[in-house]
Amino acid sequence: MSHALSEAQAATGTRKAEIAAFAHRMRHNIIDMGEAQGQGYVGQALGVSDLLATVYRDRLRFRADDPRWPDRDRFLLSIGHYAIALYAALAQAGILDVEELDTYATDDSRLPMSAMATYTPGMEISGGSLGHGMPLAVGMALGLRGRDSPARVYNFLSDGELNEGSTWEAAMSASHHELGNLTAVVDLNALQADGATGSVLRSEPVVDKWESFGWRAVRVDGNDISELLRGFDHLEQGESNRPRVLLCDTTIGKGVPLLENREKAHFMRVDEHEWQIAREQLEGTVQS
Ligand SMILES: [Mg+2]
Repeated sequence: MSHALSEAQAATGTRKAEIAAFAHRMRHNIIDMGEAQGQGYVGQALGVSDLLATVYRDRLRFRADDPRWPDRDRFLLSIGHYAIALYAALAQAGILDVEELDTYATDDSRLPMSAMATYTPGMEISGGSLGHGMPLAVGMALGLRGRDSPARVYNFLSDGELNEGSTWEAAMSASHHELGNLTAVVDLNALQADGATGSVLRSEPVVDKWESFGWRAVRVDGNDISELLRGFDHLEQGESNRPRVLLCDTTIGKGVPLLENREKAHFMRVDEHEWQIAREQLEGTVQS
């Protein structure tokens, strides 16, 4: 093994360990916020922690002390009900104080249960009505390109949102306008409010669909940090005038076996005594 290769491997190992630690702290934040409310979108949030940690620790260009920095990359939370996950990421990224997470979903908090751009630093759009994120992302990407900004736009959406016609109109526009500064990230957790995605409205074959709309698409295990890094790297190589999409299969409740794929996981109710069990299980399942 060459010296250069071993150094590169060590650097990758450090990078992965830092992302894993970020994700682990996020999961603790999510459990703490969930416990204060006794319920919520905890399962999805645990499922996307590895993904958001990779994005905020390794991909996104931002200034923690200046969330409105004009050249920042925009990360759009189209799925506003995942706000609990993004608050944890924003806190670990230094954009929010970790202590502020204690106010989650209380009166007068800047951290409401569903995302509000006017309330929260680092929250780019008010999401929640599904299908709005992609059209907004396309408009932002066009606007940024029009003023020669180096900023990139990331839109984070869910498999449930692939049911929305507006998502596909926007996807078609993005390739028509050759928006190489736009990346979609899709959480494929195989569940949506009304049931399993495969039985409500099937989105497979999902890679073929995006590619047929002119996007560069890669599908990865969204709970494997190495795969996430490789997926993003792969998307960033090659043609620069195509929009890109990272399709991420995730496990609801990931890291806490008690909560993984439990019944009625879309809006999870967790008994009082289970929160401490969740913390202990989280300590036993740290990704190396
Ligand atoms: Mg889903």
